[in-house]
Amino acid sequence: MSNSDYVLAIEDLTVSFDGFKAIDTLNLYVDKGELRVIIGPNGAGKTTLLDLICGKTRASAGSIKFKNAEMTKLAEHEIVRSGIGRKFQTPSIYENLTVFKNLEVSFPRGRGVFGALKFRCTDDVKERIAEVAGEIGLEEQLSMEAGLLSHGQKQWLEIGMLLMQDPELLMLDEPIAGMSVRERELTAELLDRICRNRSMIVIEHDMDFVKKIAHKVTVMHQGKILAEGPMERVQSDPKVIDVYLGH
Ligand code: ADP
Ligand code: MG
Repeated sequence: MSNSDYVLAIEDLTVSFDGFKAIDTLNLYVDKGELRVIIGPNGAGKTTLLDLICGKTRASAGSIKFKNAEMTKLAEHEIVRSGIGRKFQTPSIYENLTVFKNLEVSFPRGRGVFGALKFRCTDDVKERIAEVAGEIGLEEQLSMEAGLLSHGQKQWLEIGMLLMQDPELLMLDEPIAGMSVRERELTAELLDRICRNRSMIVIEHDMDFVKKIAHKVTVMHQGKILAEGPMERVQSDPKVIDVYLGH
């Protein structure tokens, strides 16, 4: 397999903050349709890696190729338009708008909320909203104000807002933090559903959850990759137990 066959090919990626390498000559390859989970101790560089991929932080060196196109020089909105969606740890939904409106303003047409709100809600958009609401399990809540949703439902809505743009690569940073056991189960099912026609990178700490969703696991430590492979192999790797799972 050549590097151009991967959805995402990261090579020799490095970022220094005042001489401290938060990401250090890292290589990472993600397949089409793959759900990759990244684990590792606090400060390992997991969030910084997502910041680099989505253009929020600039690389000091190295390459990030998405569908064979270089991303490291692009602006954040250009990276989004290329097909990369990223969810941050805290949900950023419009609490005073309905679930329907939240999804509608996320449809990739308007220029920001105010421009998008003015768009006539065409049948195409309505159809897409219904489809996404089904995927995230919020069909019954479409006319509810988003602020009234449970914590878990707010997280799903934000995933839905990203799905409105139909990204080929979706990145989620600790999506189940603060969720109930039931919400965690439903989130695992949700990720399995939405991964069918896209690639995903998920950062997560909950090992039961990781076991459920991961196709492959990458363990980061001090800005580098410590281990990578199927969950069972990574879990029994003495290096991984030593720096992460042992605690
Ligand atoms: P993780 O998500 O794995 O817990 P982070 O990517 O948040 O780790 O952080 C990795 C390291 O980089 C930490 O030591 C953190 O303090 C540092 N770091 C992250 N962002 C910045 C920044 N913008 N400026 C300086 N240091 C940063
Ligand atoms: Mg983090």
